[in-house]
Amino acid sequence: MLTSLVLAALAAAAPPQDDTVARLVGSAMTSGGASAFLETLTDTIGGRMTGSPQSEATAAFLVKALKDRGYANARVEEYPLGARWTRGHAEVRVASPIDRPLHVLSFAWVPGTKGAITAPLVDLGAPKTSLPAVPDAQLKGAVVLVEPQALDGAPSQVMRFAYVGALARAGAAAMLIPSDKAGRMLFTSAFGLYPDGPLPMLSIAKEDTLLLRRLLAKGPVSLGLDVANGLDRGPHKERNVIADLPGSEPGEVVLIGGHFDSWDQAEGADDDGSGIAAVVEAARLLKASGLTPKRTIRFAFFSGEEQALLGSRAYVESHAAELDKHRAVLVMDSGAETPRGLKVHGRADLEAAARAVLAPLAPLGATQVSLDASFDMDHGPFLAAGVPAFSLWVEEGAYDSHHHAITDTFDKVDPLKLSLDTAVMTAAAWALANGPAPGRRLTPSEATEILTRTRLEPLRAILYRPGAR
Ligand SMILES: [Zn+2]
Repeated sequence: MLTSLVLAALAAAAPPQDDTVARLVGSAMTSGGASAFLETLTDTIGGRMTGSPQSEATAAFLVKALKDRGYANARVEEYPLGARWTRGHAEVRVASPIDRPLHVLSFAWVPGTKGAITAPLVDLGAPKTSLPAVPDAQLKGAVVLVEPQALDGAPSQVMRFAYVGALARAGAAAMLIPSDKAGRMLFTSAFGLYPDGPLPMLSIAKEDTLLLRRLLAKGPVSLGLDVANGLDRGPHKERNVIADLPGSEPGEVVLIGGHFDSWDQAEGADDDGSGIAAVVEAARLLKASGLTPKRTIRFAFFSGEEQALLGSRAYVESHAAELDKHRAVLVMDSGAETPRGLKVHGRADLEAAARAVLAPLAPLGATQVSLDASFDMDHGPFLAAGVPAFSLWVEEGAYDSHHHAITDTFDKVDPLKLSLDTAVMTAAAWALANGPAPGRRLTPSEATEILTRTRLEPLRAILYRPGAR
């Protein structure tokens, strides 16, 4: 057993004995290309909501950027989009016992209130059960304040989904979710609610939540709400952007990517502008090297990630016949923070290959491998399809303070850290394209077993539910 492990590690740890990785890393660290691309993207287009004109403009911008960098094969791949959502006004105030406006923002992909309403406030706190512990009669017609938590190891989005459904069935008027961000900052994500959340749902500032709880401690509170949102049922289209650096071995593919969509209120600079900036620059550096990889390196820019991984899922479906030859997928979508290494999403069989890929990056400090698994980024559909799926693992930094908030702007992205991440993505793409295949494609039941063991199956089931396309 030990001998075979050692032999496997040695086999996986045989990096190409040339200076290609060193040259790619050096170029990534000195070009400033990723930061320059990100500045243009955020200053000219800004927020890029799925289904919006800005999203379409970004796809065109990416195709042109890739063609300018030598990729004549850069192209869009369209897929059907079930609905477009537009933000209207959202006003919430304390109606009694005082009169006070509250700091709120509607989540996307939910309806409005159909005019101004006044309703009593009910606070469910941070429940530890998957259904409300109070009778429906108390929820009917009420505005319900609730903080969904991770439950039984499943991510908090699963609880949020369960609660919005339960509150809608009980006849609640709206759901308020306290933002966990500092400085009255609101949270605009609506992962998994696409295409039509059942209830008006708003993010409310932490400070205003505390006010409401102080008022509730003294007696009944009622709120006035006026929320207008628009939902336009299609048929519509969205698109991914793809470009290839052809390899010498026909059919074999290593895909690196991120998502170009963002929420509407910010610039999406770090989520995931930094990821696509790194991948565009990786494409430029690899093309400029003049080298031909063994496997085709495919650069993928997905849309619809923030709704339900729509773009990457569409890719997995439309390229199903080629997935047996997709040797690896590598996604960057955790912000431009100091790189730690790679995540292998529950697949211990990929660990040795990940360590071999990272070995030449030891001077950058990016040699760690994490078995932690997640399903809320574009590696998810590939993980579910059994394709070896990696994501860039970075320090947490300030990512969580700004992502999905209006403060996710270009000034927050540190050019040095973005260069480091670009270097790791570029070097890892090259190593994955030229080294031994990192692992085999899992069977459907093996892939399901991983999602079940890592408590991600409930989230996958929400995202892949019928009608959520
Ligand atoms: Zn993201």
